[in-house]
Amino acid sequence: MKLHFHGGVEGVTGSCHRVETGDTQFLVDCGMFQGGREAEGKNHQPFAFKPRDIAFVLLTHAHIDHSGLLPRLVAEGFSGPIYATAATCDLLEVMLLDSAHIQEKEAQWRNEARKASRERDNQPIYTARDAQRTLQQVRVVAYGEEIHPHPALRCVYRDAGHILGSAIIETWITENGKTIKGVFSGDIGQPARPLVRDPTPILEADFLLVESTYGNRLHRSMEATLAELEHAITDTLTRKHGNVIVPAFAVGRAQEMLYLLADLHRKKRLPPMKIYVDSPLAMKATEITMRHMAILDPDTAEVMSWARKQNKGLQIHFVQDVEESMRLREIKHGAIIISASGMCDAGRIKHHLRNNLGHRDNTILITGFQAAGTLGRRIVDGEKEVRLFGVPVPVRAEIYTIGGLSAHADQAGLLGWLAHFKRAPAQTFIVHGEPESTGIFAQAVRDKLHWNNLVAPTLNHCIEL
Ligand SMILES: [Zn+2]
Repeated sequence: MKLHFHGGVEGVTGSCHRVETGDTQFLVDCGMFQGGREAEGKNHQPFAFKPRDIAFVLLTHAHIDHSGLLPRLVAEGFSGPIYATAATCDLLEVMLLDSAHIQEKEAQWRNEARKASRERDNQPIYTARDAQRTLQQVRVVAYGEEIHPHPALRCVYRDAGHILGSAIIETWITENGKTIKGVFSGDIGQPARPLVRDPTPILEADFLLVESTYGNRLHRSMEATLAELEHAITDTLTRKHGNVIVPAFAVGRAQEMLYLLADLHRKKRLPPMKIYVDSPLAMKATEITMRHMAILDPDTAEVMSWARKQNKGLQIHFVQDVEESMRLREIKHGAIIISASGMCDAGRIKHHLRNNLGHRDNTILITGFQAAGTLGRRIVDGEKEVRLFGVPVPVRAEIYTIGGLSAHADQAGLLGWLAHFKRAPAQTFIVHGEPESTGIFAQAVRDKLHWNNLVAPTLNHCIEL
């Protein structure tokens, strides 16, 4: 059999691995490249294989960098099933349609900007119709259930503890009467994080693909993170009497923030709060999260059902329509507003920043990664003035960066997960990391676990197994 690496190598986006065995080929993930113009270009490049030759796709989780090119795969002729957990299927519906909408909008903007120069039309990478067709090809797999997508393959999805529905995929591939076991880690969560369970230990593999996003660092502890959150909110609401603005990724981080705020309030570490979730996508993702409580950490159900019964000390409002969102902009103090996008470069968060950045009483709580070039990054980097809707806005609000909420395991978390293997896999491929992180992580695996057959594949690398 052959293993091809078409993305999620030499970087953290565009995850796509292809297995060729006997007369069949399948993909594990088909993600979008993200972060700047070069990545954008890769999303338009032809696939390195024929989409109609792919028999099926095994999908680890709903994040766009793992699922975002599925509609393009379908538009170009892939007609097989896409296997994913029930929660991933639900999230996918929201995320792929949202992504298609963004693609269509961007192509439209570019075309308008280019009209004058008479350059050729920009086509969106895919449309909402392609996304709809993709969703019809999705098949639900339960954690722990054995499936047989092909006579030569059986697989089992295990909880990866990364986001709702995320999976590590165990595969057993039979070729010429011999079966080898391959494990695809997907994205691995940090143990003991809110909402999700811990990543499932896997005991053996003949070959293993393991992510290495934070393979070169350690996260701040959860206790230190919570103490910081407690201080930022209490200080803003009770001493400065301002607003707290929280830019948050609509899927995952927004729900985590709700959980943490509710839990800290329940433990009397936070004062009474009025929380507004101003993002239709975050609202849908929260509904999906509530539907899948059974697969989340047991604490989550308890905290969320407690939070639902509160009406005085803890008020959570989901803001749906634009008028209501605009009314929020008039609130001068006492509100916590969670809004998207997480990196502040699109969506309703921009309005809240325009209204709140200029006042010392307010706090901007940064809870996630801010990529270079985004508005969020400029705020984190301490710029004194930023532009919003073409107008300069002074940055006078206090900026807190809350570390330790990453959805990816740090070096210790990854090594801890690898340590469950009873013996080193014959081959281990270190993927999903910037080259620096991948290199440092590989060295840590050699030093601490004494595994020697480690490879960090490059783009379109092919390995014969
Ligand atoms: Zn992910």
